[in-house]
Amino acid sequence: MLQWKWLLFLIILVVVLIFLTIYLLIKRHRGHGYFLSKFSAFTRIRFSGLEKRRQTYCPANNKCQCHLKGSAAHIEPNLLCTHRSPTLYMSFAGAAMVVGGVRTTEWRGSMREIHRDTNDEFDALFFTDPAQCFYLQDPDYQWEGLTYYRNLIKLYGTLYQRVILIGASLGGSMVCMCADLATVSIAFNPILDPVLLGLHWRIMGAFCPARQAEVVRNQVHNTMEKINTNKNDHNCVLHIHWSQLSKADQRQAHGVIGGGKHSKPIQTECLTSVLDFDIDNANMSTSSGVHIWFHRSKEHILAMQLKRTNQLIPMLKRHLTATSIGLNTISHILDEKQRQDLVIINISL
Ligand SMILES: [Zn+2]
Repeated sequence: MLQWKWLLFLIILVVVLIFLTIYLLIKRHRGHGYFLSKFSAFTRIRFSGLEKRRQTYCPANNKCQCHLKGSAAHIEPNLLCTHRSPTLYMSFAGAAMVVGGVRTTEWRGSMREIHRDTNDEFDALFFTDPAQCFYLQDPDYQWEGLTYYRNLIKLYGTLYQRVILIGASLGGSMVCMCADLATVSIAFNPILDPVLLGLHWRIMGAFCPARQAEVVRNQVHNTMEKINTNKNDHNCVLHIHWSQLSKADQRQAHGVIGGGKHSKPIQTECLTSVLDFDIDNANMSTSSGVHIWFHRSKEHILAMQLKRTNQLIPMLKRHLTATSIGLNTISHILDEKQRQDLVIINISL
C-alpha cells in the first residue's frame, strides 16, 4: 500500500516537473509564441494572437495611418496611401528556434543601420510564419502560401520603385522562391530542400510535409533559372549566403552547386556565379543574376555571426548599391547634360 502511495507521489512529481519545465521554457522565450506556433503548425489549429503577427508594416512616414490594425492577419495594402517611400523592404523571419521566439520585425535594426545618415527613406513589411512551415500556409491554411506571398510581392512591386527581399533559413527559402519579382533579394542559409533537414530541425525548427517540400524545390529552381537566364521584364538579383563548414548548409548547397555524398549534378542553368565571400568582388553589387557566396563559417546562423563581427552592414550596403542604379542614372543624365551644355558653350565661344 505504501509503495503505491510513493508511486503516485512520483507520478505527480514528474507531471509537475514537466509542466514547470514547459512554463519556464515559454517564459524564457518571452511568450513570443514559439511553442504556440509549433503547436499550431502540427495541429493546424489557428490562434488569432499568432495570426496578427503575420505582418507588421513600418512606413518611414509617421503620418501614414493607412493600414488598419486588422490588416495584419490578412494582408492587404491600402492602394490609396500617399505616404510611400521609394524603397520597400520585405523581411521573411526565419525559424523561431534560432531567434528565441516569433520575432515580428527581424532585420529592422540592420535596415536602419544601412540607411543611417542617408536621406534615402524606406518602408518595411515584416512577415512571420505563424505555421512555421516555409510560409507555405496562407492565412486560410489551404497550403496556398506560395501564391499568396508571390501575389503580395507582385502587388507591392507596382507600388514601389524598388522591392528588397531579405530572410534567413526558412525565411530565406521564401526569398529564393520570390526573388524574380523583386529588385534585390538576399537569403542567408536558405533551406532549398526541406527534405534534407536533420530530424531535430524538422521536429523543432521547420515542419514541412514531403508534398510541400517539392513545392519549395520546384519554385526555387524555376525562380533561379528565370533570374539567371534573364527572363524577367526588370533587373533583379539574388544573393545567397551559405556557411561553407556547416553540414546543414552543405546539404542544401549540393542540390544547386552539385557534389556531396550523392554526387548531385550542378544546376548550371540556375547559377550565375559561385564564389568564396569577398566584399570587394564586383558581383557583390551587381544588379542581375544568381550569386552564391560561401563564408568560412560553421554555423547555420551566418547573419548573426556577420553582425557580431561588424561585417553584415557593409556587405548589405554593397548588395544594395544595385538598388540605387535608378538614382545614379539620373545623376549621370545630369552630368551628361552639363557636359553637353559645356560643349555648346565652347562652340559658341
Ligand atoms: Zn499611408
